[in-house]
Amino acid sequence: MKNMKRREFMTKGTALAVAPVLLNSACSSPSPQQKSDGPYVNFNEKFRWKLATTWPPNFPIIGEGCHMFAQWVHEMSGGRMDITVYGGGELVPALEIFDAVSNGAIELGHGASYYWAGKIPVAQFFATVPFGMNAQQMNAWLLGGGGLPLWQQTYADFNLLPFPGGNTGMQMGGWFNKEINTVADIQGLKMRIPGIGGKVFTQAGGSAVLSAGGEIYTNLERGVIDATEWIGPYHDYIMGFYNVAQYYYYPGWHEPGTALELLANKSKFEALPTDLQAILRTATERLNMWTLSESEVKNSLYAKKLAEEEQVQFKKFPDDVLATFRKHTDEVLSDITQASAWNQKVYDSYQKFQKQMSDYSPFNEKIYHSHFGIYV
Ligand code: CA
Repeated sequence: MKNMKRREFMTKGTALAVAPVLLNSACSSPSPQQKSDGPYVNFNEKFRWKLATTWPPNFPIIGEGCHMFAQWVHEMSGGRMDITVYGGGELVPALEIFDAVSNGAIELGHGASYYWAGKIPVAQFFATVPFGMNAQQMNAWLLGGGGLPLWQQTYADFNLLPFPGGNTGMQMGGWFNKEINTVADIQGLKMRIPGIGGKVFTQAGGSAVLSAGGEIYTNLERGVIDATEWIGPYHDYIMGFYNVAQYYYYPGWHEPGTALELLANKSKFEALPTDLQAILRTATERLNMWTLSESEVKNSLYAKKLAEEEQVQFKKFPDDVLATFRKHTDEVLSDITQASAWNQKVYDSYQKFQKQMSDYSPFNEKIYHSHFGIYV
């Protein structure tokens, strides 16, 4: 009951000031002289770290999770480690966070690895790949299937240590003002769609446009773009796209389960006392699970709300359109993997794991979902 109350506070974003009072009354802080079982820990030493995100300040779920992460670290460390969270642009521009954590100007960052595609194309594989793995499979690959060591090795040259820091779950295909009945309907269509998906969309005859989150609504309203993808029903509802676009297409073929990242400056992380390193690792795992769970909860509620209250028309992309996207995905991925042996090695690991999952699925979730109509 107590946990539920705290959770309600936290999801409303008002508990950050209140929670320490509740917690301090519930458990005692370690005394300054207390020793751990391991090496001596100086409990008087305080760490004040900064976490800058690529998200707008207080962004629902994803940014909200970072504030909760800071609170968890504060609680677990008995106040020895305090992290101040900054939205994109508050401390450093959103897309300069990679460099700022890398050079140690700030200690932590939160974003998605596909934002660094220009610098490290292979980084995109640690976020999402069109027609690739879903959230559950991404977590399995990263945490147990060899993905995270490859990710950490990829970032080691930049003095960065990455962790899985959440997942949006499967995204939606996007908002369109005209129906997509054949591949010909894609021709010349201007869509805001970033990353590998954007390249695929362009190769399929469309025109991928980049625009910052804050500009998408106006661009769609004024016809500067014909379509846009964003995240899923919850975030898309908040953006109000249902006011300026008629059709909501699925599936999110381009982002089947986008993994987010928590970046730490590697040398600063390694210089921390081992108990604080363990606390940070544990907090990232909690952040990873909380973000995905919260996304699933909110997206399912808001999909219903969009359909029933806003009369949004949900439409599935025709099979031949999806097949065309898939064909071009293979070409775009091949451009990335052929650029270096390391890129090939990372994608081989990804692809091998995806096949392992897909070979296994007929015996469990695939048959379960299709037979009992759980998801379909
Ligand atoms: Ca997206």
